[in-house]
Amino acid sequence: MAQIYGFVSDPQNWHFGILTGLAWLLASGVAIGLFARLKAKLQQQKLRLDTALENMSQGLCMHNADGRIIMFNERYCKMTGRSAASLKDRHLLDVFKERKVLGDFVGDPEIYFADLISKIRAGKSNSFIWHGAADRTYHVVDEPMRDGGWVSTVEDISDWREAQKKIEHMARHDSLTNLPNRRHFSEQLELALQRLSRKQQIAVLCIDLDHFKDVNDTLGHPVGDEVLKEVSDRLSMCVRKSDTVARLGGDEFVILLAGENLQPTDVSAMASRIVEIVGMPYEIDEQKIIIGASIGISMAPQDGKEADQLLQNADMALYRAKSDGRGTCRYFEPGMDASAQARRILTLDLRAALLREEFEVYYQPIYDLKTNKITSFEALVRWNHPIRGMMPPAAFIPLAEETGLIVPLGEWVLRKACQDAAQWSEAVDLAVNLSPAQFKNRDLVSSIIEAVTTAALSPRRLEVEITESVLIQDHEAALSALHQLRNFGVRISMDDFGTGYSSLSNLRSFPFDKVKIDQSFVQEMELQDDSMAIVRAITALGKSLGITTTAEGVETSEQLNLLRLEGCAQVQGYLFSRPQPASVVEELLLHNQVSEQRELKAG
Ligand code: C2E
Ligand code: CA
Ligand code: CA
Repeated sequence: MAQIYGFVSDPQNWHFGILTGLAWLLASGVAIGLFARLKAKLQQQKLRLDTALENMSQGLCMHNADGRIIMFNERYCKMTGRSAASLKDRHLLDVFKERKVLGDFVGDPEIYFADLISKIRAGKSNSFIWHGAADRTYHVVDEPMRDGGWVSTVEDISDWREAQKKIEHMARHDSLTNLPNRRHFSEQLELALQRLSRKQQIAVLCIDLDHFKDVNDTLGHPVGDEVLKEVSDRLSMCVRKSDTVARLGGDEFVILLAGENLQPTDVSAMASRIVEIVGMPYEIDEQKIIIGASIGISMAPQDGKEADQLLQNADMALYRAKSDGRGTCRYFEPGMDASAQARRILTLDLRAALLREEFEVYYQPIYDLKTNKITSFEALVRWNHPIRGMMPPAAFIPLAEETGLIVPLGEWVLRKACQDAAQWSEAVDLAVNLSPAQFKNRDLVSSIIEAVTTAALSPRRLEVEITESVLIQDHEAALSALHQLRNFGVRISMDDFGTGYSSLSNLRSFPFDKVKIDQSFVQEMELQDDSMAIVRAITALGKSLGITTTAEGVETSEQLNLLRLEGCAQVQGYLFSRPQPASVVEELLLHNQVSEQRELKAG
């Protein structure tokens, strides 16, 4: 049975006199019976007390008014790591001193004891957290008793503390990467800003991964998660121990650098290192994955003294880095603020414009050089903005691509153009531009089929123009969409050929029906030999692969003559006509014949 260490007096002693008296007085068996019952009752009570004390989850120790230990339970011994013999009947101050010698007592035992006694005498309780052996933490409460002594209870709170710590950690860290989260980062930034002095500088680096969405979309979220973990490891490797790397969500990371005489050159060096290291290939599930990092930087105090402002400015610089071609870093500049604001307004306008149908499709004729007749029209969208007037696509297509609004806009252009083309002569085809962003939409093929079918246009009369970047992004998915379109009867053109990634293998990767030579070569053809060489190479390649070649941006008759000589099949440009509203198309078709004299006038 469990043991209680204490001095419960033997009931036999204090009842002895009375019992003797009774025995003598009554000398009867009744008195003996009474004594036996009383003794049994006391023993039962002691047993209950013992059981209760030993089954307590707390350690318990009682002291008399002087501070001498009068009783304690076994759990108390275990928790304090002391034997019963070393506690029994000891004065608490002696125990403290002994612990001090063993290195198990912080502070001065005499002072501590005096303080404790004075509290107890004042009828006040005392409580403290005690870090015991084996990493355990205890909550000790000393509670005064009526006789001037006190009882100490010791509770093991290690598990509770551990759980508490875990909860606190979770609230301030990202569960995937274990990096500090936004809240933790903001706290660190606030702290750093409070310490900001003339010498001390702060840099906030907002990092966004390039092409991460493609990894997630094509290889799945588990692979995406692995990439994010690896990125966090690499980022942590790039910084000093005193810097903070946090994950704000998705593929957004942020770094806080703070230090004396932190120079923009140091920050730039670190940013370049990050771009390089994050850009190194990842090997996950035996797949080689390549992503990049774009970085926006703001510095305190010059770019702001408030946490929110610094983050916002770094974010604006990040946006600039992304639009300047990714894989780069940019510092915040005051003008960025205004341009970001303008972008926000334009995005809102664009959304509203879709609902209000403020767009219009213009058509530019493409001529066949053998027949000198219009062979097709290219659909070119315009935005009839209520305040800014007619806006060219360059002013809103990039934003529409970025915000995903290109999908509904592209669908609208396609439906409208198919309806218009259905009114033209059967001999004239329609060309529609498809942006790379539209290929990310799984419904692209079905929406094209629907537009063509609804307009009752023969699919053979539709031609879609894509650029090389469509093939770069998600090669397999793009090729599959192109094949589906081709099987439906739609023709595919390679637009702006010669710019961008420009690789002949792109021309071979799909049986294109047409290749459009970019206008930059056409316009420089007469002036620059290499442009002429490119035009010549593309037309020759077109001929050998059986692909029609169309020269864009033809502005002069000299250019036209050269293109004829090279054997280019089709031409398009201001020399013949600018893009025109649908209503003018009829008129153009009426005079569907091009002669060298008229061409110049038309320009
Ligand atoms: P693009 O597909 O290369 O279209 C040809 C652009 O060159 C048109 O500009 C056209 O007006 C212009 N152009 C034609 N002939 C000449 C010329 O002789 N000289 C010069 N300097 N320019 C000429 P636009 O209409 O401003 O369109 C610009 C770009 O916007 C297009 O380039 C195309 O990439 C994009 N775009 C236009 N409409 C759409 C659309 O509906 N959907 C998508 N995704 N993109 C579109
Ligand atoms: Ca085009
Ligand atoms: Ca083009």
